Amino acid sequence: MLHEPAVIWQSCLTLLKKELPSQSLLTWIEPLKIKHIDPNKMVLIAPDAFFSDWVEEHYRFCIEQAVFKATSWRPTFCIMSGSAPSGSVPGSTDTVSHSKKNVVTRPVSSFALNARYRFDNFVGGESNEFAFSAAKAVAEAPGKTSFNPFVIYSSVGLGKTHLLQAIGDYCLKEGTASNVVYITAEKFISDYIGSIRKREMEKFVAAYRSADILLVDDIQFFLKTEGSQREFFHTFNVLFQNDKQIVLSADCAPPSLKGFEPRLISRFQSGLVASINSPDLETRIAIVNSKAEQHGVSLEKDVVRQIAKANVSNIRELEGALTHVLALSRLTDKSITSELVSKMLPNIRAKSRKLTIDDILNVTTRHFELTSSDIQGNTRKQEVVVARHVTMYLSKKLTGLPLKMIGASFGGRDHSTVVHACRNVEKRLKNDPDFLDLMSRLYKHLGQSFHSAA
Ligand code: ADP
Ligand code: MG
Repeated sequence: MLHEPAVIWQSCLTLLKKELPSQSLLTWIEPLKIKHIDPNKMVLIAPDAFFSDWVEEHYRFCIEQAVFKATSWRPTFCIMSGSAPSGSVPGSTDTVSHSKKNVVTRPVSSFALNARYRFDNFVGGESNEFAFSAAKAVAEAPGKTSFNPFVIYSSVGLGKTHLLQAIGDYCLKEGTASNVVYITAEKFISDYIGSIRKREMEKFVAAYRSADILLVDDIQFFLKTEGSQREFFHTFNVLFQNDKQIVLSADCAPPSLKGFEPRLISRFQSGLVASINSPDLETRIAIVNSKAEQHGVSLEKDVVRQIAKANVSNIRELEGALTHVLALSRLTDKSITSELVSKMLPNIRAKSRKLTIDDILNVTTRHFELTSSDIQGNTRKQEVVVARHVTMYLSKKLTGLPLKMIGASFGGRDHSTVVHACRNVEKRLKNDPDFLDLMSRLYKHLGQSFHSAA
């Protein structure tokens, strides 16, 4: 049978449009090219190795199905990384630094520093002393100390982002570095993917490699994204060789980072690694005092102590507890007394309990009598789709994870799929009392109050 590649691919795309979220189609399917086709074989070309791995892992099955539906043909199937039409290989960035390139002095995209995160409003204490003083030393002489790279790790809400940005802020204000690049690993990855798609790899590479100090937040998100991990490794080496400063944050000590190549882990440990621990009561008290002062409020000693002792697991939640108390006092026009605070604290406790996606799957799989792989997989059966939407919705409401991470946990879906799922659930909640009842039972099983969480 003769197959015209362009025609086959066009019909596949039409079928896949119905199957996949448009963002996934745009990002992962449309950039693929049919390279070669013979009666038994179909070769798809992806812009680079990371891209082809991703497509292989997440979309191979859908593509095979689409080919079969369109042609009743089951070829041997192969997804390769290969040349872009221009003849250059996007993503093979090793060569870029040697080629003629436009000098780009600004990153393709970086988050602006938040003026709230400075050294002068970071409260030091036993739990963060080492990380805090090392951060100041690095900011005073970036790239000139042996603290390179400087890695800060802790669990969430204990001040990593604050310290990373405070280093950047200090460097800019005191002029110890001029090109300060702060980026989260997540953003680095999406910029990396975007630059492959737009064929702007050189711009991407030059932007990060021209930093005097590169601050990369939450590197645990590099997990399993090999292409961007490779690019990050090259950036790291170039900066390091040029005595530029690298500062990283992670949610665990480098050896415990999952999904990283050993050579990267050993790089991370070659400078200084500092942890931040949970603050002791004294530090919590100092933090509550400092934050209240920033709000222009002075609190009784007992009240400060009471808030500092709130059953919260990190400083972000402690700040949240204080903000709640201040807001309630303002709204009700009552002064902040111990009594008011004790009324508030149980609510804060309930709100601060974060669940994991697994906790939620545990409940939804039982309720819908499905397995986790059904819910996280690709089946389009109506009852599975409903269960998947509900699980995504609960994950968004109750885990505090970014949409991207939630999407990734559901078979590598895009964040827009999660948004779509949540909209569906919200629409149904408004119109379907039985569904409302079901959701309220699920919340209850998860130990959450429906009204406060919804
Ligand atoms: P992480 O990045 O580790 O999750 P953040 O840096 O975002 O944590 O900190 C959470 C919140 O707590 C931020 O608002 C930050 O300003 C505040 N915070 C954390 N540690 C301190 C500290 N030692 N002093 C003052 N504020 C802090
Ligand atoms: Mg952070």
